[in-house]
Amino acid sequence: MIGNKIYNLCKVLFPHNRSLTGNGNRITLNILKKYCPKLKIKHVPSGTKVFDWTVPKEWNVKEAWIKDSNNKKIADFSKNNLHLVGYSKSVKKQIPLKKLEKNLHYLRQLPNAIPYVTSYYKEDWGFCISYNAKKKLRNGKYKVLIDSQLKKGNLNYGEILIPGKEKKEIFLSTYICHPSMANDNLSGMTVSIFLAKWLQLKKRKFSYRIVFVPETIGSITYLKKNHKTMKKNIIAGFNVTCVGDNKSYSYLPSRLGLTLADKVALHVLKWTNKNFKKYTWLDRASDERQYCSPGIDLPVATIARTIYGMYKEYHTSLDNLKNVVSPKGLQGGYDILKKTIEVLENNCVPKTVFSCEPFMSKRNMYPKISKCNYDGNKSPGVGKINKNIMDLISYSNGKNTLLDIAERCDLPVWDLYPIVEILEKEKIIKKIN
Ligand code: ZN
Repeated sequence: MIGNKIYNLCKVLFPHNRSLTGNGNRITLNILKKYCPKLKIKHVPSGTKVFDWTVPKEWNVKEAWIKDSNNKKIADFSKNNLHLVGYSKSVKKQIPLKKLEKNLHYLRQLPNAIPYVTSYYKEDWGFCISYNAKKKLRNGKYKVLIDSQLKKGNLNYGEILIPGKEKKEIFLSTYICHPSMANDNLSGMTVSIFLAKWLQLKKRKFSYRIVFVPETIGSITYLKKNHKTMKKNIIAGFNVTCVGDNKSYSYLPSRLGLTLADKVALHVLKWTNKNFKKYTWLDRASDERQYCSPGIDLPVATIARTIYGMYKEYHTSLDNLKNVVSPKGLQGGYDILKKTIEVLENNCVPKTVFSCEPFMSKRNMYPKISKCNYDGNKSPGVGKINKNIMDLISYSNGKNTLLDIAERCDLPVWDLYPIVEILEKEKIIKKIN
């Protein structure tokens, strides 16, 4: 099962200190590259202007801990990198509990969880501990050490370009900036790299652009460099996030919700998981914010399992490979995106060769005896098997796509694939696109 392989890769990637920039991101990209050597690791220097933003300084951490008056570590970055607030500056001091508390983060409602906190754009420092650990702290002096570096360096991202028969592209984007959390966001990068592996081996109509960027600043940087080509070529794209738990499936639309990506996502989810959760643009929180922003307006939607913010372990140490993500969950995330891509690849515009209905009897494609078809079914007219064939023919006017036809026939589009094949072979329809 591919879910097991994806899960094992999650285990390898889990402990690295990912952020907007830094060694953890380069290590992560290099591990991903082993799975798909086509992945190119790019860099953009700190200080580069990207639209209204500036690429930040690079952040790296050597060591970070808090020790109590007995020299016992009460938070240690080397044990769990979530203990340190992302982008913390260097600190070395001894302070009383009252002062330390101002820089401590914890969650009363999840007393065992270490929360995930960052301070990317305001130079600050802080530690995150569980509420249970916080409750045990006694008055006294605490030693705080953060040996980190914030200096001019690079923002790194990964890019995979897989050419197809056509220049038109399908786009997948996932982010690589979260340390030690599984559904958000290891599941996105691991499922995406396995999709890239599959796509490389498959016969492709479309070209593929798959990117691994730090969230927000990474997608903005990528867009700054590539938006013109992307705008010209991308016909549908998906932000890949939270695809590793085994609870639900979710859809979050592009800004207007009317793109091909939205259409395909809704179709696939409707026919595979009746109870999928449908969110709106107002619920957005990931890189669709950039891809669908005014001035960019790319056709990018999100298909997820339980989406960010909708599970209690979200953005804490409890979003791990034991509590939330499983091989089965990852398999589901992989399968739904694969199916979505297959629908795009197989979509076409069929057109009948003849005017009026073709004479199906001479092709042995119609019941030999014409009789009353009443069988108590809801549909009058021709029998069920022939009905799908005749319906497809009747909608094949050279304007409807196969996906449109499937929607009109109230059928999953994959049920029409064998019919298209037969009708093409019988020279009744041809694909004009
Ligand atoms: Zn997140």
